[in-house]
Amino acid sequence: MKRDYYEILGVTKSASADEIKKAYRKVAMQFHPDRNPGDKAAEEKFKEAAEAYEVLSDTDKRSKYDRFGHQAFGPGTGGFSGSGNMEDIFSHFGDIFGDDMFGSFFGGGRRGGAGATRARGQRGSNLRIKMKLTYEEIAKGVTKNVKVKKHVLCTTCSGSGAKDKSSIQNCGTCGGSGQVKRVTNTFLGQMQTVTTCPTCNGEGSTITSKCGVCKGEGRVYGEETIAIDIPAGVQEGMQLSMGGKGNAGERGGAPGDLIIQIEEEPHPELVRDGLNVAYDLHISFPDAAFGTTVEVPTIDGRAKIKIPAGTQSGKIFRLKAKGFPEVQGYGRGDQLVYVNVWTPQHLDSDEKAALEKLNNSENFKPRPDKNNKSFFERVKEAFN
Ligand SMILES: [Zn+2]
Ligand SMILES: [Zn+2]
Repeated sequence: MKRDYYEILGVTKSASADEIKKAYRKVAMQFHPDRNPGDKAAEEKFKEAAEAYEVLSDTDKRSKYDRFGHQAFGPGTGGFSGSGNMEDIFSHFGDIFGDDMFGSFFGGGRRGGAGATRARGQRGSNLRIKMKLTYEEIAKGVTKNVKVKKHVLCTTCSGSGAKDKSSIQNCGTCGGSGQVKRVTNTFLGQMQTVTTCPTCNGEGSTITSKCGVCKGEGRVYGEETIAIDIPAGVQEGMQLSMGGKGNAGERGGAPGDLIIQIEEEPHPELVRDGLNVAYDLHISFPDAAFGTTVEVPTIDGRAKIKIPAGTQSGKIFRLKAKGFPEVQGYGRGDQLVYVNVWTPQHLDSDEKAALEKLNNSENFKPRPDKNNKSFFERVKEAFN
């Protein structure tokens, strides 16, 4: 025996359209399947109310029902055009609850479609790691596979924190929105405040039975091997960020970021100075006097440079574009080779005699001209 539509919604036969709408909203909220998971009786009441509302909210159908009762629509389905399918019923809700109500009524998870996973737990924290890189690695850029210990998603519950699907219940306090609205009367009129739902802490759902592996957290402590792309030209102290590679969030919350702090491993022979690289070259006095060819290390293998005859100590040779590349851009620094002419610190008697003889020679007397710039001038020039 079908129940009277007015009775189902709890309104009188003379109820206005607005009263019917309000009544339906109340009943639908009460018996909503998200709030009564697995409760068949509630589901039936929910469908029943939807059917009653469909008829009573339509002026034409309502007047037919008023005159003929359930008979007006023939046996069986009554005035309800839908199949009783839940999705059909949900599709009516936008009209009567408005989009705001619609969203909060279904909870965040439904907004993205019926199968969407909830991602409302706490966001994971950012994770910081330090990465030591050699000059060679910085010069070319490198991909490092790093094993990172961190909170990872619990694969047993897929991050939900629940033992199974039926253990996740829409929060009864906030109806799944994670927020509660409170209306207070003040002398200025009604004031509405929205606060985080105290029952579910804003998550919109509660868990009745927790996942045994993660104890309901939705994440476990583990490790992940992450391929980290380091662009060429990074510098000591720089921070790179990889979105979503930090700690997993609680109960499906978004993961934090992985922050990579760059450290430079000191090079045994070269010293970085911004985009430039400095190298101290030591040559013997005879090599400086006769001229020679030497091999010097660079951040990109070894390079040969020609030392002309008569090269003074303190001379700076510039190897164009042998420095570091700009991280963003096409520029490249140079390598500066500082010449140091080695003065012997120990001499035997033969060497002393030979040098004493040379010391009287005119060519050995220092005679700097304007082409032999001062040390400070040379350094200034090298950096311009
Ligand atoms: Zn809640
Ligand atoms: Zn779990």
